[in-house]
Amino acid sequence: MPLPGKRRRSRVGMLPERRYVCVVLHDVAPARWAGCTRVLAQLRAVAREVGVELPLSLLVVPEMHGVPGASSQYLRWLHRLAKSGHELALHGYTHSDEGPPPRSLVERLVRERYTASEGEFSALDEAQAAARLVQGKAWAQQHGLQMPGFVAPAWLLSEAASRAVAAAGFRYTCTLNKIIALPGGQSLHAPSLVFSTRSGWRRGLSLIWNRNLAWRQRQAPLLRFELHPQDADHPDVLRCWSQLLAQALRTRQPLLLQQAAELVRPPAAERAQDPRVRGR
Ligand SMILES: [Zn+2]
Repeated sequence: MPLPGKRRRSRVGMLPERRYVCVVLHDVAPARWAGCTRVLAQLRAVAREVGVELPLSLLVVPEMHGVPGASSQYLRWLHRLAKSGHELALHGYTHSDEGPPPRSLVERLVRERYTASEGEFSALDEAQAAARLVQGKAWAQQHGLQMPGFVAPAWLLSEAASRAVAAAGFRYTCTLNKIIALPGGQSLHAPSLVFSTRSGWRRGLSLIWNRNLAWRQRQAPLLRFELHPQDADHPDVLRCWSQLLAQALRTRQPLLLQQAAELVRPPAAERAQDPRVRGR
């Protein structure tokens, strides 16, 4: 997909010539549909206020927590979003961490406390990860949906799962602080604003953290707003990201994640010389 606007694209190894922002909505699934539509309505309001088009990257979970069944109405909604310039990406298959038990206290804290056991790809081996990716791609294909990227739930990818993602034919993936072009692995620093809404004290801390992060990263070439379906349910959280996003949209060009990955992808001629790519 070409980059919007008439400006020249950056070449690999150089910083982008201007600043960008990606807006990403996680956990798009039938069970979270109502929350998703509330966040989307607010995003439209912010874009209208600033007077810009705002393409969104929507992270889709085929069977959230193992619950199958996408209604035709929900699927039509996904198709409408994709047709109107937004992007769908695969975001795990169930979003549940069903991997082997944690082997250390730190691993237990990350998997059970930090992500509330939602890090589906945090502890899978390569074959298990590959099987879930095949399932996810089959689901997308069955419903005629394009999903060029893969973003792991909570960005937690075991090393083995990373290899499976690169081998599965996705064009990009992300961590909390990077967008990674695949299959080559070139990465772009892209810090994320993420809100925690699980309790009052987490919300309070995340407002302070995100305001501070937006200020510290105001010169970063690419900033990401990583929103969740519940982010429109708390007025203080909604106000905070809406204000920060409006500010960002006044100085930054919005991009889809797949367009951001293109900023660091080497041109075809260089790719042919790259030993990581040769022979694929
Ligand atoms: Zn998620």
